[in-house]
Amino acid sequence: MAREYGVHMKGGVITERDADYCTVRVRLPAGILSVEKMRGIARIAKKYQAGEVHLTTRQTIEIPHIDHRMLAKIAKDLAKNETPIGSERDEIVNITACPGTDRCKYANIDTIALARELDSRLFGREMPVKVRIALAACPYACTSPILNEIGVVGRIRPLRVPGLCTGCGTCAEYCKECAIAIKNGISYVDESKCILCGVCVHSCPFGLLKAENARYLITVGGRRGRHPILGRELVEVATPGEVVDVIEKIIYWIYRRAWSGRLLSDQLDDLHFEAFKKEILAAVEPEPGNSVAVE
Ligand code: SF4
Ligand code: SF4
Ligand code: SF4
Repeated sequence: MAREYGVHMKGGVITERDADYCTVRVRLPAGILSVEKMRGIARIAKKYQAGEVHLTTRQTIEIPHIDHRMLAKIAKDLAKNETPIGSERDEIVNITACPGTDRCKYANIDTIALARELDSRLFGREMPVKVRIALAACPYACTSPILNEIGVVGRIRPLRVPGLCTGCGTCAEYCKECAIAIKNGISYVDESKCILCGVCVHSCPFGLLKAENARYLITVGGRRGRHPILGRELVEVATPGEVVDVIEKIIYWIYRRAWSGRLLSDQLDDLHFEAFKKEILAAVEPEPGNSVAVE
């Protein structure tokens, strides 16, 4: 049987040590899939090899040890199961997300919906460099967005209802950053320590702490691997629509300006990060600074 070059060239097909075999990675935005699709993947894994799958750090599933002659068939079966072959090369790869407001009590934003929206617009697009996008719904940052080419973190600024604080100190106990102090029987937030996690908002027994609408911090140029680099803060925006808009602009910018062979984190200075930032910020309404709006 002739080698199926077409499918072999897909980013989600990874040649193994024994080059006659491949690992096939599927597209799973935010790592969420229905039980039916999971059963479908299990059936496909059994049909084409020993029935083993591998869960990846990018929240996808891989089916290892696929005979290269079976690639076209497995691609067809995976597409039919609505879990098509994914990406892993110089492309926009699987978008990762924490559970967000769907499940986590600390969440400030709906990361899963945002991951699906970004996936539908961007997944698999060929780029000069690999682009990883990770979303976390609060500054605990369980998906390590700052170690991705593009990261998003949901944040909340606490606001205290003026004049009614009893000074009980409950909110100060909850704040793991020691950012809240009680002075003269009233709570105050130290803006320099507050990381905008919003945990204190839910702690006041008298309901005196309120949250501003959630914001989305976007970082760019992070990476994991041999020499990890933290992404740089780019902008904070107010809505999921603005996040999508900014990320599409970043992607387009990278597509036009970056070149192959080096990750974006290595290129940002050469690409004139400040000019990049200025261009992206000019395209979105600049947000006010990160001052915490607590009395
Ligand atoms: S990043 Fe925050 S919201 Fe997301 S899972 Fe972790 S603790 Fe929960
Ligand atoms: S939002 Fe700021 S003050 Fe409130 S718990 Fe988080 S770090 Fe502390
Ligand atoms: S804001 Fe609420 S929890 Fe914090 S000190 Fe005042 S009354 Fe207590």
